Amino acid sequence: MRLVIIGAGFAGMYAALSAARLRDIQGVSPEELEIALVAPEPTLVVRPRLYEQKPETLTAPLLDVLKSIDVVYVQGSAETVDTKSRMVQIATAKGTRKSLSYDRLVVATGSRLFRPNIPGLAEHGFSVDQLDDAIALDKHLHGLANRPEKNGRDTVVVAGGGFTGIEAATEMPARLRKILGKDAKPRVIIVDRNNAIAPDMGEGPRPVIEDALRKLGVETRLGAGVASLDQSGVTLSNGEHIETETVVWAAGIRAAPLTQQIPAERDNFGRLLVDRCLQVPGVPGVFATGDAARAACDDVGNYALMSCQHATRMGAFAGNNAAAELLGVPTKPYHQKAYVTCLDLGEAGALFTRGWERKVEMVGEVAKKSKQEINTVWIYPPQAKRAAALASADPERVTDL
Ligand SMILES: Cc1cc2nc3c(=O)[nH]c(=O)nc-3n(C[C@H](O)[C@H](O)[C@H](O)COP(=O)(O)OP(=O)(O)OC[C@H]3O[C@@H](n4cnc5c(N)ncnc54)[C@H](O)[C@@H]3O)c2cc1C
Repeated sequence: MRLVIIGAGFAGMYAALSAARLRDIQGVSPEELEIALVAPEPTLVVRPRLYEQKPETLTAPLLDVLKSIDVVYVQGSAETVDTKSRMVQIATAKGTRKSLSYDRLVVATGSRLFRPNIPGLAEHGFSVDQLDDAIALDKHLHGLANRPEKNGRDTVVVAGGGFTGIEAATEMPARLRKILGKDAKPRVIIVDRNNAIAPDMGEGPRPVIEDALRKLGVETRLGAGVASLDQSGVTLSNGEHIETETVVWAAGIRAAPLTQQIPAERDNFGRLLVDRCLQVPGVPGVFATGDAARAACDDVGNYALMSCQHATRMGAFAGNNAAAELLGVPTKPYHQKAYVTCLDLGEAGALFTRGWERKVEMVGEVAKKSKQEINTVWIYPPQAKRAAALASADPERVTDL
């Protein structure tokens, strides 16, 4: 029997750990139930940190931990999934192809930034979405120091005033001063089509965010979208032109394209609709999880967000349930009642909220300590020690906040 997991992000990593945990509990050998994880690299990209400096350091190795729990790593990118013959076609970086059959499949391919067809965006826009994007932005920012101090060199425009845009923007003044010198006067501007900053975060946290932007001197242009980009900068839908060499696109996210190969219903973000056990209805043997899935997380109408917090726990349930079916034990319905957010606000600290109504619980330095702990400890893979790694993946306890 073979369980194949596609994707080595937070969801894929915890799917592998929890499937291996259940196999171990049931006393079944890796020969009887093979668990294979397919991903281009055997590393976890710590995506929630990609707005930080030195993005090239923001990965964690996975090979040793996978070995310690007898999960087979298959290097490559899944190109096609045939759900009738239960086969996955994988392309390797060297251009070779291989096929892998599955008895159960977990789609944990995550998400990607959605770049709309705005003139100049593809050529001139940067982002902090994937590791390569964040490295390209960092290289560009360092290159600014060698350019003449004109034409908006010290201006950064962040398109999108949601969670990612705010983190990228509030980090930017300090980041630019490190590169351009402490006397530099960087200008950072958030542009958002909505009339309020952080439209999804609600009224409670907004004053804290607005106060942080004021302290850091981050400007906003609200109620206006990005109309076009060119070498001279960015033009907004209200006609304003901002001279800049750096536009960071942080508006909109979609499930990774592989989800389109699963013949099932998807939401507006491209996420596969799943049942309470994270199985894709009507497609036998296929589970979806993390940013690739839209799942109810309680009985009162809340749905998992595209967040690390949800991806980790959903991954643990999906891996457990896919293995449970093969091992003939009951599956567990996914549930995640507790929900917190921790938003980095650069040198203005952070903001910690609890509950779906996002009640502000901590601000400033206290919240910043929590953010640092989340970012440097909680979201990293467990150590490559079999017993501890397996124990870390009890679905009922993963991300139990
Ligand atoms: C800048 C930034 C800040 C963020 N901040 C926060 C935060 O503060 N809190 C929070 O909870 N969330 C945050 N997020 C969101 C969080 O990073 C995602 O929700 C999370 O990474 C989703 O995990 P995942 O495992 O579903 O997908 P991903 O982490 O996207 O991992 C997907 C994996 O699938 C692989 N993959 C994709 N396609 C294929 C294929 N065809 N074949 C093989 N492998 C494939 C990828 O290589 C990757 O290994 C942030 C995201 C960004 C970009």
